[in-house]
This record gives sequence, structure tokens and C-alpha cells, in this order.
Amino acid sequence: MNVLIVHAHPEPQSFTTALRDLAVETLQGLGHQVQQSDLYAMNWNPVASAADFTERANPEYLVYALEQREGVKSDRLAADIRGELDKLLWADLLILNFPLYWFSVPAILKGWIDRVLVSGICYGGKRFYDQGGLAGKKALVSLTLGGREHMFGEGAIHGPLEDMLRPLLRGTLAYVGLEVLPPFVAWHVPYISDAARGDFLRAYQARLQGLEQDAALEFPRLEQFDERLYPRTHPL
Ligand SMILES: Cc1cc2nc3c(=O)[nH]c(=O)nc-3n(C[C@H](O)[C@H](O)[C@H](O)COP(=O)(O)OP(=O)(O)OC[C@H]3O[C@@H](n4cnc5c(N)ncnc54)[C@H](O)[C@@H]3O)c2cc1C
Repeated sequence: MNVLIVHAHPEPQSFTTALRDLAVETLQGLGHQVQQSDLYAMNWNPVASAADFTERANPEYLVYALEQREGVKSDRLAADIRGELDKLLWADLLILNFPLYWFSVPAILKGWIDRVLVSGICYGGKRFYDQGGLAGKKALVSLTLGGREHMFGEGAIHGPLEDMLRPLLRGTLAYVGLEVLPPFVAWHVPYISDAARGDFLRAYQARLQGLEQDAALEFPRLEQFDERLYPRTHPL
């Protein structure tokens, strides 16, 4: 399988980076092909702007998603976006590896999502959820965080982690058609012992070794909705 790891941590000695390194080593050891995008090391530009197109279909007024569509058709996407898109289209599995920032992804990773998941390939029209442009590929989110495990879940102070990650798991990854595997989470990372962090590394390795047996999370399928995207059970 071809794997793209998109990694977003500014410190090469961080625990999150150790998870990335372990994933590369483990997946290559299993015979998979691995490419990486180390966003801080690449000095990735996260800001979606008019500069993302070498020529504009409409130079007067920027509608970013429409320019993405035209840019795809006419090969007018900026070189850094095209490079990432090629890696993404090559991959059978996308791994996003990051520390949780404000219940979300670091800005540099959000900017990778904004600029690389282009309309016209990844989504657009009724090309979403199971009909999304990346259907047939899988995604795994691997994250570290400061909070403790008991702070997440039904009735817990922060609520379920899957609710917190909904914009990413559902609104982004599932939306573009990826089969989203349950996230791998390393809790309370800065405050635990080296040995406890070692346990997370071993658990992640075991998870990666068994990845092909993992059941994906459930998301809507377009067949459950009518032409106007009302649920088929909706009263007429
Ligand atoms: C802007 C911002 C917003 C945040 N928002 C949230 C939030 O909403 N919710 C939340 O819960 N947390 C939040 N945090 C906390 C953040 O998610 C955690 O601090 C981060 O995930 C910890 O991971 P790290 O890789 O940065 O750890 P690091 O601090 O890099 O590493 C922790 C320790 O692990 C050690 N280590 C490195 N490699 C290894 C190894 N191979 N084996 C064992 N130990 C190793 C390091 O030396 C270090 O001592 C936020 C932090 C920031 C900066």
C-alpha cells in the first residue's frame, strides 16, 4: 500500500515526531511505500490566496473553490499544491499526525487541508461522502494531546473526542470520500513518564501492524438521501 504521512509539529525531537518516525519505520518494515510531508520542515505556506493559481479564470473576483476547479482543469495550480496533490492521489492511506491545538489541528495543517483538498478532484457538486473524489482510500488521524483520557467521552468535561474532531473526521476526511479509521490518541503526553510514552509508541506500532483489519467509522452515504439531499425518510 502507498502511504502519505502529513506531519505537523515544529519540534523534530517532540513525541509527536517520534510517532511519525515510528510510523515510517513500521510501515516500511511491512513492505509499504511511504512518502511524507513534514509541514514545518517544508515551511509549508498555509494561507489560501490568489497566489495559489499561476493564472486566474476570473482575475476580477476570487472565488477560491471555482479557481481550484479551473486550476485543476487547466493545470494552473501553484507548484506546492500540485506536488502535495500528486502525493495524495498516489496514496492509498493518508495519515495526519499532529498535536491537538485548541480542539483542532495546528494552523499549518489546516492550511494544507484548505489548499490541497481541491474542488474538482476531492469534492465538488455531489462528489462528497461515499461519492467523494478520494473514495477508495483510507485516512488515519494520529494525535497527541495534553488532556487526560477521562476528560473525554459522554458526560465528561470536554465531551466525546469524536465530537471535537468532527470538522476533521466528518467535515473533511469523510467528506472527500476517505474511509476514516478510528483515531489513534496519545493522552496527557507532556505530563506522563517516559515509560508511559513508550507504551503509547508500542500501542501505535501494534495499531499500524493491524491497520488493514480496522473497521472504518460510519458516515452518511448519498444513497440515503434524495435528489435534494433530504433524508429518504423525510416526509414529502
Ligand atoms: C496552541 C496549543 C493549543 C493546544 N490545545 C490543546 C487542546 O485543545 N487540548 C489538549 O488536550 N491539549 C492542547 N494542547 C497541548 C498539546 O496538544 C500537547 O502539548 C501536545 O500534544 C504534546 O505532544 P508533543 O509532541 O508536543 O509533546 P512534547 O512536549 O514534544 O514531548 C513530551 C515529552 O515526550 C518526550 N519524548 C520525545 N520523544 C520521546 C520518545 N520517543 N519516547 C518517550 N518520550 C519522548 C519529550 O522529550 C518530552 O519530554 C495545546 C498546545 C498548544 C501549544
